[in-house]
Amino acid sequence: MTQPDTTTTPAPFAATIPDHWQRMARAKGYRITRRGADRYRIVLLCECCGLGHTSKRNVLMDHTPVCPHCVRARWQEDATAAGLEWLGRDPHDPKRGRYRAPCGHEVSRQFELIKRIVAGACALRCETCQRTKEEAEATAAGWTLLGPAHERGVNYRRYRHDCGHEQEIARVNMRTERVSCAGCGVCWSASPSFIYCMRFKLPGLRPLVKLGFSRNPESRMNWQLLRTPDLFEQAQPSGQILRSIQIRTGHLALCQEKKMHAALRRSHPGSVVPAEHYGPWLNVKSEIYAGDLEPVILDMLDRLDPGAPAPD
Ligand SMILES: [Zn+2]
Ligand SMILES: [Zn+2]
Ligand SMILES: [Zn+2]
Repeated sequence: MTQPDTTTTPAPFAATIPDHWQRMARAKGYRITRRGADRYRIVLLCECCGLGHTSKRNVLMDHTPVCPHCVRARWQEDATAAGLEWLGRDPHDPKRGRYRAPCGHEVSRQFELIKRIVAGACALRCETCQRTKEEAEATAAGWTLLGPAHERGVNYRRYRHDCGHEQEIARVNMRTERVSCAGCGVCWSASPSFIYCMRFKLPGLRPLVKLGFSRNPESRMNWQLLRTPDLFEQAQPSGQILRSIQIRTGHLALCQEKKMHAALRRSHPGSVVPAEHYGPWLNVKSEIYAGDLEPVILDMLDRLDPGAPAPD
């Protein structure tokens, strides 16, 4: 006759739910539906949302259990109220959620910050968009954004000048181009920019035009835009600067050029040439139009405001 095996089965515990537990649960907005996997666990049904979750007996007795379903619903509501799409919790930080910002980028933010956005106390700033904006500002001033500053405060960034020198500069100064390079001595008043119109003849394609800005359109065309052609190739791509207008600062040039592109895309959407057409010959992904837009762009350039002269 074999003895029942008592070594592997857990010690049985009273599976009933005492009345005073149930009263405590009701007082805190729950109902206990059953006992959990062990003597310390209980399953609570939330009277607010009607969904159940497992909790611990001492949490019910000594604290107020928090319904995870209600909490998630609130995070979702907050996201919607803040104009964001809720994507879920941040797996790296219990105090954060993941959201889709209106620009389309995914951001991770503290739940508290979302509440402050809903209250109108602050706004969400997408770091990806911000980075793109700061990179463009640096390019306009002749610098490359490297990243956050190590030695200076949060208002500073680390940049590399065209001469190769690296320096920490206040972002506001980069934006307004009040920057002097400690490496080569070039200071801000010495760096105007040009908005240009270029015409390209690429093998097998109708003429194309490019509108852009640069501190040196000639070098931009020859050393950056035109890809080094294969010397054994019969047909060679060629470019020509049709016009370039000097603008007082790179930042002003950047702003004006952006507006011109937006206007062209609105007025002549059919003349925007997809990048795959010119990709083999031109090292650029946009800002290329069909050649018939040439007179339109030249006319825009003629009407450009070059900016007031820099104060001495
Ligand atoms: Zn609930
Ligand atoms: Zn963004
Ligand atoms: Zn320099």
